[in-house]
Amino acid sequence: MNRIAIVGGGISGLAAAYEIEQRRQAGADVEYVLFESSSRLGGVLRTEKIDGCLVEAGPDSFVTEKPWAADLCRSLGLGNELIGSNDAQRKTYILTHGRLVEMPDGLMFLVPTKILPTGLSPLFSWKTKLRMTQELFHPPRAVDHDESVAAFVERHYGSEMVDRLADPLLSGVYGGEAANLSVRAVLPRFAEMERTHGSLGRAMLAARKKMRAGPARLAPPLFTSLKDGMQHMAESVVARLTPARLMLNSAVDAVQPEAGGWVVSAGLNSDHFDAVIIALPALAAASVLRIASAELSAELAGIQYTSSITVGLGYDHEVRRSLPPGFGFLIPRSEGKQLLAATFVHNKFPHRAPEGRALLRCFFAGSNAENVWRLSDDQIVGIVRNELHEILGLRVEPIFARVYKWKSAMAQYGVGHLDRLDRIEKLRQKLPGVALAGNAYRGIGVPDCVRSGRDAATQLIKAAGLN
Ligand SMILES: Cc1cc2nc3c(=O)[nH]c(=O)nc-3n(C[C@H](O)[C@H](O)[C@H](O)COP(=O)(O)OP(=O)(O)OC[C@H]3O[C@@H](n4cnc5c(N)ncnc54)[C@H](O)[C@@H]3O)c2cc1C
Repeated sequence: MNRIAIVGGGISGLAAAYEIEQRRQAGADVEYVLFESSSRLGGVLRTEKIDGCLVEAGPDSFVTEKPWAADLCRSLGLGNELIGSNDAQRKTYILTHGRLVEMPDGLMFLVPTKILPTGLSPLFSWKTKLRMTQELFHPPRAVDHDESVAAFVERHYGSEMVDRLADPLLSGVYGGEAANLSVRAVLPRFAEMERTHGSLGRAMLAARKKMRAGPARLAPPLFTSLKDGMQHMAESVVARLTPARLMLNSAVDAVQPEAGGWVVSAGLNSDHFDAVIIALPALAAASVLRIASAELSAELAGIQYTSSITVGLGYDHEVRRSLPPGFGFLIPRSEGKQLLAATFVHNKFPHRAPEGRALLRCFFAGSNAENVWRLSDDQIVGIVRNELHEILGLRVEPIFARVYKWKSAMAQYGVGHLDRLDRIEKLRQKLPGVALAGNAYRGIGVPDCVRSGRDAATQLIKAAGLN
């Protein structure tokens, strides 16, 4: 019997456990034990029902384009539970000099593809608009080194584009700043467009032309989620696992080689396994592997993380009527606010709030989260209310407010991240039977985490000759 330990019970570890469970049920001679330090499974996937509203404490959805999370849901029998974002209402505002300005139509992430809406938009100065036109004439360029997203975007469109769009869009995903994120790791498609086309604008237009030439297809919604919330995905995986194989309140201290396998120590208990999947944030992975490989541990510890805070607020129908249409707004750091973003959940996923309720999800991350971290929940709600008043004119007291703090939960793919991953992979290969999964490596979103867990399990099962 091949025994595999899984360390970490977030969605990455659960996806790994589910893959092994399926192989076991199909007859493979394999079993697993999952170690989770806290008293619950799912990691940052957490959903609460409050006053008829469905409040997401962690992720609220995932991008539809990446199929692995939706595939997992279908495999769990949750196909009918999948819901798309209400893209008919998809409108995002950027706070610009204290005013909410709609992102112009035709903006593909940060690349303008429609001249008129961008040309008329008050979001950008004339200087930036001129840069956008000039950008169309950039010649192809093969850059032989990594650089920050900020440096890359600035080369193409200037610093205002970094401040107004790149930074706010990326801080919503990574919680970090464009100046600290690797363009090759975070925007690989854009780095490739520069290599092949030079101009991002021209590359995007060419891609659109190609798409239009193909068979007409209804565009899928940008985001997918679950009717009963993201936690439902984790719970449904857990329901398929063997309860006796799930060790809660079991913080793993170390994973060490012994007798051709691995000893996993959690407090006073230790157990022997043939292989181990480490599905932890990088710093925790570094800590459990420090005895097995000091070098690998040091590389893992070099991957930075930021903390984030989400605040869910429920309001009555009057507020719902008074709020602008659309999915919500992003706040550039130059606007001097603590908040980075707010989502109008009742518009993005309408059934998450009853007709008579408005549901807002506000977001702090990185240095903005650190600034308020030590404050009480009431004080944090006070800051949120103050800023919502300044931005939306919203004075009334919310019917409910909940604060969720996530310490060092969002990985930052710094400049040189892909080179670091190559070094990590070489060092990992020196530890046969160890696989890594989680948001530290090749994608921070839920779909990538699901894929990483599934692939880690497949890799070990294959190495053991069990498939
Ligand atoms: C506020 C927030 C909003 C987000 N929004 C989105 C979104 O909208 N869409 C999207 O796709 N992604 C989003 N993400 C990212 C995504 O949710 C995460 O990257 C992903 O869920 C991480 O899953 P994981 O299993 O790798 O890690 P985690 O969920 O962090 O799980 C790791 C688990 O390991 C456990 N653990 C830690 N140390 C030990 C130890 N020594 N021994 C045993 N167990 C241990 C922890 O308790 C935890 O349960 C968001 C993240 C956050 C924090």
